[in-house]
Amino acid sequence: MKASPVYTLAEGVPYGSATTAQHFGGDNIKGLMLLQDTQLIETLAHFSRERIPERVVHAHAVGAWGEFEVTHDISEFTDAKFLNGIGKKSKTLLRVSTVGPERGGSDSIRDVRGWGMKIFTEEGNQDWVFNSIPVFFVRDPIKFPSLNRSHKRHPATNMTDPTMFWDFHNNSQEGIHALMLLFSDRGTPKSIRHINAYSGHTYKLTKEDGTFHYIKVHIKTNQGVENLLNDDAVKLAGQAPDFHAADLHQAIVNENYPSWTVYFQIMKPDDAETYRWNIFDMTKIWPHSDFPLIPVGKLTLNRNPANYFADIEQAAFSPSNMVPGWAPSADPMLQARMFAYNDAARYRLGVNYQQLPCNRAVSHVYCPYQRDGFMTFTDNYGGDPNYVGSDLKPVTFAGNVGANGCVVGGHEKWIGQVIGFTSRVVDDDFVQPRAFWEVLGKQNGQREHLAYNVACHLSGADPQVHAKALEMFSKVHPKVAEMIQVELEKIANSHR
Ligand code: NDP
Repeated sequence: MKASPVYTLAEGVPYGSATTAQHFGGDNIKGLMLLQDTQLIETLAHFSRERIPERVVHAHAVGAWGEFEVTHDISEFTDAKFLNGIGKKSKTLLRVSTVGPERGGSDSIRDVRGWGMKIFTEEGNQDWVFNSIPVFFVRDPIKFPSLNRSHKRHPATNMTDPTMFWDFHNNSQEGIHALMLLFSDRGTPKSIRHINAYSGHTYKLTKEDGTFHYIKVHIKTNQGVENLLNDDAVKLAGQAPDFHAADLHQAIVNENYPSWTVYFQIMKPDDAETYRWNIFDMTKIWPHSDFPLIPVGKLTLNRNPANYFADIEQAAFSPSNMVPGWAPSADPMLQARMFAYNDAARYRLGVNYQQLPCNRAVSHVYCPYQRDGFMTFTDNYGGDPNYVGSDLKPVTFAGNVGANGCVVGGHEKWIGQVIGFTSRVVDDDFVQPRAFWEVLGKQNGQREHLAYNVACHLSGADPQVHAKALEMFSKVHPKVAEMIQVELEKIANSHR
């Protein structure tokens, strides 16, 4: 048996009791507490400060450690070392979250699940900050805060508000594709082990020779996709709000390690120029028939966090964390997220969040021009120059430097004019949702579930937003709106 640890105050001073406050006035309850009681004061003061700012979105989560293993050779597309060498394994941290609810939310509610994954590679951290559906609700980043507010609490009532939700989506109908997926049964997964994740964005795989390919990432569960029916998910949210957390934790305790197969869709740059769909539009998928899934690797979760706060709450993921061989595309949402995620981490965790054990790269880090700030707990680069360019302690730079001294690696050329970007909704925005409606039509009960799931939510909204919502669904197919209308009437009759 391990020796029990000797209790100390936070400064390391051994102390005789954790439950005795200093008291003037004898050993009965009468008397005064003392300001000299460092233990009492520190304990109370620390308690008041033990919450850090909650994430504005994706606050409620579950996570675990694992590994990413390369299973197929894709070296013709990328130099990224973590993707090269069949059998190569990299340590991985995964955090899966609901989007709207606060930290104490229920696991089983209808929502997209965020998929924050950090792969600790020999060339630094590669983050995959994905979602459980392959498309997003908006493609213009200026709408991102509005979208999320409409899914959260009303400014007057502080209640979630279906009227606000539908009012937003009625006026941002580029989100219809994501709405169809959210209100399919995939919006209420049975467990984290049974969901897929998708990059949504287009990224690039690059090679040092200047070539690149566009890709989308698909992470498919090896447990099989399984979902809850709407009413069961609602009940479970009350009965067992931590259901998904318990399910994942117990599976790992039982050594029933969940795994996922990672696939890429890969597109040549020339094909992107003429492709039917704008590959930088996050409301669109690439049909499998055009770009088949190519297997790449396997993710396995095999270790529960030793401490949720240390490992999962303090974890910070950003789509801007990319290793050589992996690069961003011109998707406006991706470009904006590459700023916003790090910025959120700086606000939430402080400017040195990259030094926290759960975020710290396992590879060599030498970034002496980014130093000081709250809570530096490395050696802060000692006396090394804090300015660029030094003969006293020269720095070695890796990478591909061209004749002009600039780093080569842009891979793309852009020429154009600066204009205001406004994403107008067009008929094409309803084509892929219609294809999804066809997919649902081939599976027993799936269309009926979607209509019922929408009606359950829409029935809670003010009737003044119903007509426009139904009109939006009718642009996918008149049958969608018709079926939702029937379900709305059934719900209204059941309340009479
Ligand atoms: P496919 O028939 O090849 O793909 C349809 C995909 O839809 C499936 O592979 C599956 O995604 C997903 N799916 C199947 N059943 C359901 C269901 N009951 N609820 C939710 N999702 C389901 O056709 P396309 O590739 O041409 O896509 C057609 C439509 O399917 C798209 O417009 C899109 O709405 C949707 N879809 C497409 C995806 C893609 O990347 N191509 C991914 C997911 C959905 P998965 O295999 O990932 O589980």
